[in-house]
Amino acid sequence: MATTPIILPDAPKVGMVSLGCPKALVDSERILTRLRADGYAMSADYAGADVVLVNTCGFLDSAKEESLAAIGEAIAENGRVIVTGCMGNEAEAIRARFPSVLAVTGAHQYEAVVEAVHEAAPPSISPYVDLIPQADPNSHLGDVKLTPRHYSYLKISEGCNHACAFCIIPSLRGKLASRRIDAVLREAEKLVAAGTRELLVISQDTSAYGVDVRHETRQWKGREVRTHMTDLARELGQLRTPDGHTPCVRLHYVYPYPHVDAVIPLMAERLLTPYLDIPFQHASPNVLRAMKRPANEAKVLERLKAWREICPDITVRSSFVVGFPGETEADFQYLLDWLDEAQLDRVGAFRFEPVAGAAANDLPDPVPEEVKEERYARIMAKTEAISAAKLAAKVGSTVRVIVDDVGEPDEDGDIGATARSEADAPEIDGAVYLRNVPEGLKAGDFAEVLVEDADAHDLFGVISRPDYPSAPQ
Ligand code: SF4
Repeated sequence: MATTPIILPDAPKVGMVSLGCPKALVDSERILTRLRADGYAMSADYAGADVVLVNTCGFLDSAKEESLAAIGEAIAENGRVIVTGCMGNEAEAIRARFPSVLAVTGAHQYEAVVEAVHEAAPPSISPYVDLIPQADPNSHLGDVKLTPRHYSYLKISEGCNHACAFCIIPSLRGKLASRRIDAVLREAEKLVAAGTRELLVISQDTSAYGVDVRHETRQWKGREVRTHMTDLARELGQLRTPDGHTPCVRLHYVYPYPHVDAVIPLMAERLLTPYLDIPFQHASPNVLRAMKRPANEAKVLERLKAWREICPDITVRSSFVVGFPGETEADFQYLLDWLDEAQLDRVGAFRFEPVAGAAANDLPDPVPEEVKEERYARIMAKTEAISAAKLAAKVGSTVRVIVDDVGEPDEDGDIGATARSEADAPEIDGAVYLRNVPEGLKAGDFAEVLVEDADAHDLFGVISRPDYPSAPQ
């Protein structure tokens, strides 16, 4: 039975007029990176934009005049305008002259400006194209939670050079386009200086970073760094928070190519968080071939074993698609057996759904919906059992956590908190629920926790040490 393909909504478009010094330009880049990561497209002209951002300069009177002129032009040409940047500090003057501006935010107020764009042109979030997970899969499409200050997504590239049969990213976002490594590192450094304690490196294919620019070399802190995942990882491992901590750095959407081996020792030294998010999608060679996936499952098991020898507590997360056209019971059983061997720590599973424009829609032998459901239930049961056993083995040990949220005192005065261990990326993995936390604990704090209990996804415990030592630089 043919299924109707899912039609993705058009991405809202943002226009940007960026004025001022190089610092303002970096701000513009950061805002646009964040907006692109949130699913926005960029518009090169006023007419095509759903909203126009004017990043102003207020350094000299002449710069202010130029900024006001730019706001006036954007209002005349488009009408839906958000003002940010240095002149944002003179909100009253701007509103007096241009009462129709939608919002005015100051320099470096990234979250406020992104929030204003979300309000003016709600993002069309889709799990088929967006890298940043939705907090609640049942929530409304536009209902996106902004990243809290203590963690930030760091997008290193756009687009993808692969041609996976179920994916429309290459036609939607184009070929791989890597950002300059010095710009990425500058953004990471600014984020950490501004309070980010956890960086989530995202792209469509993080291991391919820099392939499009032949891994060109740039200067960073007097050193030559290549536009390459391992150089990026090494440099991110050198970052320190203002109070001297090594921030958490997680690598997402990594393919298990040989050069990934080079980052595992950094994880063993805790310069990087020992966590790899690898979207395997399947294990059966037949299905992987039909999916046109860039991976070889036999070598993957060897590689996982070697990584665990170097860094025994590395967490490997992955996602899998069940019910891909042509997937037989034998293919599916192969996947279940492979999971038994691979013993992945965190797994997300999806039932295959055709997305309009994807090559997989034309493949023969669609899997009936009831078979997809049944396989989905089986893979979930399998991966939950693996996860439960792995988490049960942590009871009695200590884990490092970052605090996400601290509650109010209960009737006995006890305060609970929600945290995440090194094994938990925000929104997609589990949590560590803490009882009796010390007063003054706040979101973004690091701590060591004695694990007292576990279920299939989460840990429960108590803080054994209100901090932990930073990795040596
Ligand atoms: S690697 Fe495959 S699934 Fe991922 S973005 Fe590229 S084409 Fe899509």
